[in-house]
Amino acid sequence: MALFDFHTHTTLSDGAADPLTMARRCLANGYGAYVCSDHVDDRTVADRVPQIVAACRQVAAELGIPALPAVEITRVEASLIARVATAARRLGAELIVVHGETLGDHAQPGVNLAAARCPEVDILAHPGLITAAAAAAARETGVHLEVTSSNFHGLTNGHVVRIATAEGASLLIDSDAHRPEALLTSERIDQVLVGSGLTPERAAAVRRDGPAAVLARRGLVLPQGAAAPA
Ligand SMILES: [Zn+2]
Ligand SMILES: [Zn+2]
Repeated sequence: MALFDFHTHTTLSDGAADPLTMARRCLANGYGAYVCSDHVDDRTVADRVPQIVAACRQVAAELGIPALPAVEITRVEASLIARVATAARRLGAELIVVHGETLGDHAQPGVNLAAARCPEVDILAHPGLITAAAAAAARETGVHLEVTSSNFHGLTNGHVVRIATAEGASLLIDSDAHRPEALLTSERIDQVLVGSGLTPERAAAVRRDGPAAVLARRGLVLPQGAAAPA
């Protein structure tokens, strides 16, 4: 089964490798698509999203792997998240990730709840000590909560799994890779999901159903080996 990972970075923001280099490693690792979700905020969104869109077009043309432009809305005040998400989508971002209240950062309080309530958001990344109220809001809107293989942001994976399970919110695993070596492998996905407290059966379900559910919510379908949506 192809791997999916909707949270990766490149030199378009603070990553160490360019999109083609990252996408080549995605192909080598068995990914079914390449998703570039570089950081944007209210000041950078207008310039950066078109760069991400162009990079994904180049990746799809040169490597033949479906490539989806995305963003990670990062260090934006809670009150501005919906506006930045709408702008990013209008400029061509197919998936909207929000940089949640990770313990690895001084995230703005209220970001988890604002992202979970925003219908334009697809994934609340590394949400730290997420509250039951934010997880319940995510269930209502269909926002997926992220379990991360990043050892920087993954301190609270067990908490995220516990609260998501209690509130019925959907889970997804991503790498948040800033360099090719940090991208997911099949083995790593299983290790991190089970290590976060999921049973092997639930880990398999998150792995199988999470990416498809995120894509389906936007009308995107990426069957293995298929062309990227226009
Ligand atoms: Zn982040
Ligand atoms: Zn990130």
